[in-house]
Amino acid sequence: MIDSFKTDELKKLIELSQNIVIVPHLNPDGDAMGSSLGLLHVLEGLKKQVQVVSPSAYPKFLSWMKGSGGAINYEEEKSKAEETFRKADLLIFVDFNSLKRVGEMQELIASLSIKKVMIDHHPYPENIADIMISVPESSSTCELAYHVINQLGWNEYVSADAAECFYTGIMTDTGSLSYNSSNPETYRMVAGLLEKDIDKDKIHQLVFHSNSFSRMKLLGHVLGQKMILMEDQGAAYMCLSAEELTEFGFQPGDTEGFVNYPLGIEGINISAFFMEKDGIIKCSFRSRGDFPVNKFSEMNFSGGGHRNAAGGMSELPLVEAVQKYKNELPKFYQKYLKDAL
Ligand code: 5GP
Ligand code: MN
Repeated sequence: MIDSFKTDELKKLIELSQNIVIVPHLNPDGDAMGSSLGLLHVLEGLKKQVQVVSPSAYPKFLSWMKGSGGAINYEEEKSKAEETFRKADLLIFVDFNSLKRVGEMQELIASLSIKKVMIDHHPYPENIADIMISVPESSSTCELAYHVINQLGWNEYVSADAAECFYTGIMTDTGSLSYNSSNPETYRMVAGLLEKDIDKDKIHQLVFHSNSFSRMKLLGHVLGQKMILMEDQGAAYMCLSAEELTEFGFQPGDTEGFVNYPLGIEGINISAFFMEKDGIIKCSFRSRGDFPVNKFSEMNFSGGGHRNAAGGMSELPLVEAVQKYKNELPKFYQKYLKDAL
């Protein structure tokens, strides 16, 4: 799955580097933070100076992860982040494959003439690094990163802290091994991580069962009042305005997973969620089966992702962004049905 030439090259590059900066994507999720921090722990074990610089804040439900407190949030600490990049001799990008995904950090990163490595599992990678480890068949970047560490012969540097981080990303990107997880390789990686003596039940509890009361109320509101079905397409959508988010005391990460709920309805195989945040509309799409939400998002919402899980954005007002979905989805769906024939 990864050619040995690349692993040899990567090993040499890491051995030669001293100041390594790891960069996850904008609005990092469990997989992006898990792979960033898992790699941080492994590289620190190898006596490297390592810093995670995130383009934006990470969700509160990941703050238990060891090392998360040390991550720099570019939106809040621009000059500290810039100084860190200036000192770096190696950049590692995790869980994204286009520089668009680092938001406002894009120009700064593109201007750095140091070596760059990408470890990612999204389809259609852009050429953004000197060493590109792109494996779209992998369940998660965490699975892939752990696999790469093993290939490099560094399993002994995977501490329990690192293993917890890697396990988290596999768990969140596969819905606790319910989708995207039919490859036996994923379970080999999970088995390896469990051998590091991690408490998997505790991680599940911390990530999925540590909701705030207000998040639960927001979920109740969106499911109860805002879910709309488009039965002809087997689709659903929901949206939340900035006012609604404020009313429910929104915290980063509170809406994580909301988009999945409509797929629990019989006959609904496409789901969309729109949220007004920081003056733009953040969109999330999910599907079951062959319907490619990444293509739909790329065409209509400047986004992308995986076939069954994608995101995007719109600069239209919320109502118009939702209207665009209502207009474009049936057309795209017709074309999808025709192409499938
Ligand atoms: P989510 O809906 O959880 O934000 O994102 C689902 C998937 O789509 C993730 O794999 C994420 O990396 C990807 N994704 C989310 N937003 C964007 C976006 O704006 N552009 C692209 N290319 N991918 C996105
Ligand atoms: Mn991922």
